[in-house]
Amino acid sequence: PAPDLETIVSLAKRRGFVFPSAEIYGGFANAYDYGPLGVELKRNIREAWWRSMVQERDDVVGLDAALITNPLVWVGSGHVANFTDPLVDCKRCQRRFRADHLEEGAYGEVPRDANGNPLCPYDGGELTEPRQFNMMFRTQVGPVADEANMAYLPPETAQGIFVNFVNVQQAMRRKLPFGIAQTRVSFRNEITPGRFIFRTLEFEQMEMEYFCMPPRDRDNPTEYLALHRQWVEERLRWYIEVIGIAPERLRLRDHDRDELSHYSAATTDIEYLFPWGWGELEGIAARTDFDLSSHAKLSGQPLTYFDEETGQHVVPWVIEPAAGLTRTLAVVLLDAYSEEPDEKGEKRVVLKFKPRLAPIKVAVLPLSKNDALRPTARRVYDMLRPLWMTQYDETQSIGRRYRRQDEIGTPCCVTIDFQTVGEDGQPGDDCVTIRDRDTQEQVRVPISGLVAALEERVPR
Ligand code: ATP
Repeated sequence: PAPDLETIVSLAKRRGFVFPSAEIYGGFANAYDYGPLGVELKRNIREAWWRSMVQERDDVVGLDAALITNPLVWVGSGHVANFTDPLVDCKRCQRRFRADHLEEGAYGEVPRDANGNPLCPYDGGELTEPRQFNMMFRTQVGPVADEANMAYLPPETAQGIFVNFVNVQQAMRRKLPFGIAQTRVSFRNEITPGRFIFRTLEFEQMEMEYFCMPPRDRDNPTEYLALHRQWVEERLRWYIEVIGIAPERLRLRDHDRDELSHYSAATTDIEYLFPWGWGELEGIAARTDFDLSSHAKLSGQPLTYFDEETGQHVVPWVIEPAAGLTRTLAVVLLDAYSEEPDEKGEKRVVLKFKPRLAPIKVAVLPLSKNDALRPTARRVYDMLRPLWMTQYDETQSIGRRYRRQDEIGTPCCVTIDFQTVGEDGQPGDDCVTIRDRDTQEQVRVPISGLVAALEERVPR
């Protein structure tokens, strides 16, 4: 069973994954800082995504577009007009809520009036009628804070891809179908209290726009919907096989007609069973030609593709798998958490990360804090550090140090003992012990073969 959220929040802070932001000033709602292990975990998830989506494919290329750009981008995309959430205010305490989140249970069971309308979850006060609130953060470029200098912080990464479609297609001489991938920070003025890093003001996304030929029949785009399905399957496979999420805690949810945006032909969410219930992890949307057409209309620039076969300029259709990197990090922590008996039958906490994701791949542990062991242990540490994220630890008992490494999900511990270095005038055997995080099995290998032995267990 998944641990409760408090267990993960406290482990994440105690062991240097995620800290509440600006804690010394009392923190800040929906903002978190990533500590030394959190940075590594985030980087490893991002790299696993990039590897699967770009490096290992021959039909996807990368992009890194500016965050602060011409505000017309957000007019053309529809965000200025439509990227809104329905807000309600409590008439008594003035607190604000997202109407849809009150209904979805983000505040737990809420009190209701005689007509079944929700009341303020804090003091039962009456709520105002919903009003639309735009979730984009605004900023200004230059010293004068007037409308002409106004710019937005991006609430998603996709638009940088759409406005660069022609640049990328021509520079890379790409034929349809092909995709453009981007991972980046996004900003949303979220007012619902986030559950840890599930919902934050700034968060990282991993998005890809896959451009394909428009269907012959707009109203019956069979091949296009089949392509959408393929991407849904591929993304689900990624969470299970590459990221290592338990399949029984993942499910697919198709948006029904009234939930779909007017331009979307289909949208499927990949959901995870969070401690509070199912929640979105990634949305795979069949966005038709909506984005390219809208930007072409507003900019007056054709965002088309020349189809050599028919000699015609066409507007490609798009499939968009949009994932949250920081939300995936929360899922990876929750899903990897396990409590089980150690060698002595006592409780040990293990983060069972896929080795590729583990922030620290190898820990070098001399059996005890001892001048005889240290030189060899440091030599091993120096040898491994250029190859893997490696930690050196010689304080406290070896058992305690194994527990510490288990708790941060380090796949391999390498111990140096007196047999390694020799004792009482006897020569050492120059062998070290590798202890496996999951099985707790130990094998002895010569230092000369250590890199090869570790390579079998942890990817570089
Ligand atoms: P939600 O309904 O949870 O607000 P959404 O449907 O608005 O999400 P999308 O616009 O589809 O989200 O964004 C794609 C992905 O980005 C989401 O599946 C999620 O993983 C991530 N994401 C969106 N908003 C946030 C946020 N405020 N904090 C962290 N991750 C987010």
